[in-house]
Amino acid sequence: MSREAQEVAWPHLGKEIFVANWKMNGSLAFVEAYGARLLEQHSTISKKACVVVCSPTPYLKTLRDAVQGAVFLGSQNTATAQSGAFTGEMSANMAADIGCRYGLVGHSERRRLYHENDTIVVEKALRLVEAGVVPILCIGETEEQREMNETAEVLHQQLRHISSLGPTSGLIVAYEPVWAIGTGKTPTPDNVQKTHRIIYEILEEHGLCNVPLLYGGSVTATNAGDFLALKEVQGVLVGGASLKTDEFLQIIQCLDKISQASVHCSLDQ
Ligand code: PEP
Repeated sequence: MSREAQEVAWPHLGKEIFVANWKMNGSLAFVEAYGARLLEQHSTISKKACVVVCSPTPYLKTLRDAVQGAVFLGSQNTATAQSGAFTGEMSANMAADIGCRYGLVGHSERRRLYHENDTIVVEKALRLVEAGVVPILCIGETEEQREMNETAEVLHQQLRHISSLGPTSGLIVAYEPVWAIGTGKTPTPDNVQKTHRIIYEILEEHGLCNVPLLYGGSVTATNAGDFLALKEVQGVLVGGASLKTDEFLQIIQCLDKISQASVHCSLDQ
């Protein structure tokens, strides 16, 4: 794929990525107000930022209409199947049809509550890629695995099928330690840096270079700058704090405060 084609397919290319994951929160009124605020504040968003909002499925179209292209839409979950008798599911094609350019897969809540294993996760990612949607693959260890020093092994496991996506999927990986999600606890920036280096190595073993890595887990306007300042971090995935529009905007604005001028996409760049 030429660089021009990549830039069209992957709007995040060369940018710092900010993903809001609302989970199962919000209402029609909330979506309308949130979208209107993002649109109103659009000019304050750095040109170096690629902003993605993953609203609950029923609100994607309302959000799309409200933001008028000011930010990108992301799905929170899509099916492994393309169509058919799968009551309650949304296909990757439907997500693309409604305007999603990005889609979350492998979020720890889906893994834990809905028993999605690594095979299912990579299948979902493949469907997204086929539909022209960029997968944002979430990985990360539990508290217990961390205490047992199993983080690297867990990340290896979670990425073991990743080469089937191929080098032209536009894949983004989000490192989200499970123990940091929604808890107010975060790893130190030093820890994130070390873990991201491990993830780069695993991805490179699978022939995947230049995959942007996001950090996710209790990111707030107060700590976002510490993670974004690392050259091993190309963006953040924000849950709870993204539900407050102004806090999410402040997180994006951290980009203006950090001195890091360029976006780094792999260890050897
Ligand atoms: C998430 O849902 O992916 C997440 C990181 O949540 P929080 O920011 O609330 O920890």
